[in-house]
Amino acid sequence: MSAGHNEAERLDALMRLRLLDTPPSETFDRITRTASKLFGLPIAAVSLTDSERQWFKSRIGVEHDSIPRDKAPCAEVAETRRVVVIPDLMADSCYSTSLLATQGVRFYAGAPLVTRDGHGLGALCVLGVEPRTASESELTALTDMAEMVMAQIELQHAFGRVDPVSGLPNRLQFFDDLMDLGRDPNDTQRIAVLVDLARIEQISNGTRVMGAGYVDDMVRVAARTIREALGPNRLAYHVGATQFAFLAPPDVDPSDYQDIVQDVLDGLPKGATDGFMVTAAIGLAPFSPGKTEPSVILRMAHSAALEARGSRDPVRIYSSEEDQVHARRFQLMREFGTALHEGGNQFKLVFQPRIDMSTGDCTGAEALMRWRHPLLGAVPPSEFIPIIEQTTLARETTNWVLENAIGQLGTWHAEGRQLTLSVNISAANLEETDLVQRIQLLLLKHRVRPSFLELELTESAVMRNSERSMWQLNAFRSAGVRLAIDDFGTGQSSLSYLQKLPMDVVKIDRSFIKELGTGAKPELLVNSMINLSHELNYRVVGEGVETAEIAEILRQLGCDEAQGYLFAKPMGAAEFESWLSASAERISQRIAS
Ligand code: C2E
Ligand code: MG
Ligand code: MG
Repeated sequence: MSAGHNEAERLDALMRLRLLDTPPSETFDRITRTASKLFGLPIAAVSLTDSERQWFKSRIGVEHDSIPRDKAPCAEVAETRRVVVIPDLMADSCYSTSLLATQGVRFYAGAPLVTRDGHGLGALCVLGVEPRTASESELTALTDMAEMVMAQIELQHAFGRVDPVSGLPNRLQFFDDLMDLGRDPNDTQRIAVLVDLARIEQISNGTRVMGAGYVDDMVRVAARTIREALGPNRLAYHVGATQFAFLAPPDVDPSDYQDIVQDVLDGLPKGATDGFMVTAAIGLAPFSPGKTEPSVILRMAHSAALEARGSRDPVRIYSSEEDQVHARRFQLMREFGTALHEGGNQFKLVFQPRIDMSTGDCTGAEALMRWRHPLLGAVPPSEFIPIIEQTTLARETTNWVLENAIGQLGTWHAEGRQLTLSVNISAANLEETDLVQRIQLLLLKHRVRPSFLELELTESAVMRNSERSMWQLNAFRSAGVRLAIDDFGTGQSSLSYLQKLPMDVVKIDRSFIKELGTGAKPELLVNSMINLSHELNYRVVGEGVETAEIAEILRQLGCDEAQGYLFAKPMGAAEFESWLSASAERISQRIAS
């Protein structure tokens, strides 16, 4: 009965105990010594039956740590899961030609090592160099000792699989059990549930004030609550420092279960100790057993719990779209960094002209970054800039843009094109104390007068750290660089705040501009923005002008400049130069006519 399906399961059970090829251990050796003494025999071993060998976890009187499985009596013990006694190997039809017999072994007695699931792992055996018999009481003792070996094996296995604080099986066990579930060939969908007890900062605050015992207490209370909620027949696992997992019963609908699980949540510690705010979040991950890797199932449930945190919705079901958003964000961040460090040739700048409303002339352009990813294609700045702005890459990115924009501006000035170029600056850049000097050096290097460079900042960027920003803006001002407030109207800044800013230009956000012509209200709004800006001596630019009608309204409202697809889309440097020449042509024709 050695081969086939059972043997595969038996081997799998052995593998999962992670015993093979581990170092000797005194707890096993003690049992082996006792067995050898009991029989008064020189050789004893805890012998495990691997696919091709008998491997000795513990041994006395044997040099090598394994022998071939073929014709090994221990293999018979493992396969039959019964006590085997061979009074004289030389007289045995099967074992007279075995390796042991050729080495002079005559007597063998082995008791099986059987797991709780009934798999025979190997034997506890004693061997002698003389023929011998074994008494009933000797064999009972040997069987008892084999059971002690098994208890030890299971104990060791459980150790490292049960969390000492919560008393619950840990993540490894969760993974193993999910694997087991996957071996079951039925197709019902299951739901993994992850309970995340608290936000990381809640934990670290609590620990700081009340010591590490704080988390232990919280974990113990939560473990008990969850265990009680699940009842005696379902297992909860302790899968992370303050995270628990369990499976929903089969055949429940995820959205129905969302409500059920809410009850579990209600019983969880909230401000468990001394009024500390602890807010749990729960993620549900539906999965098909055997089709998804256990670690992925846990990650999906975790991702849903994170979504729950982000949304302040206490229970969320895993959505692959949300997960994909995160995965893509992460990929973009990583690969943007690589592209930047590899010299930036996946990036380029495009230029969108700014038009003087009274003359129709191009007064300058805004430099906008473009990223062509070798596999993903063009990634829009509205996607990558917000990601990059939250990382340390913000500094290098702005450096790259400034270097290239000012370099280009230097070239144009040398060619006699006296343009002003606007560059977008991120909020994070305002924290860089050396930004002004870096810009000044670039301007010197490329022989550009500071007043031809305009830096665009959004209201919210300026507001983020207003003291620091004010210092930085004044420094730019002293350096002679122009300043523009971008996306005006979308932020929260008060009008009185705007008044304090050392700005030159206000760019009214496209969301207001595109409404012009649809009614009186948008016009009123834009009109007041323009008037206010003029009172503060700022030039006003309308962003995102797409139609001649809107351009005309803006002109009548007194808007100074405009930018938008009506005039030109952002273009590469060469295309922009041709566009410039053509528009100069148009203007001179207009003057001539
Ligand atoms: P922004 O600074 O407000 O730039 C204007 C955006 O509006 C540009 O989008 C431009 O292509 C688009 N636009 C211009 N005219 C029209 C129009 O008529 N209709 C419509 N629908 N759109 C128009 P883009 O290039 O996709 O950039 C988006 C945002 O990304 C920028 O908004 C800016 O906040 C940021 N960004 C772009 N390049 C850079 C950069 O080099 N550094 C930083 N920090 N941010 C950048
Ligand atoms: Mg801009
Ligand atoms: Mg804008």
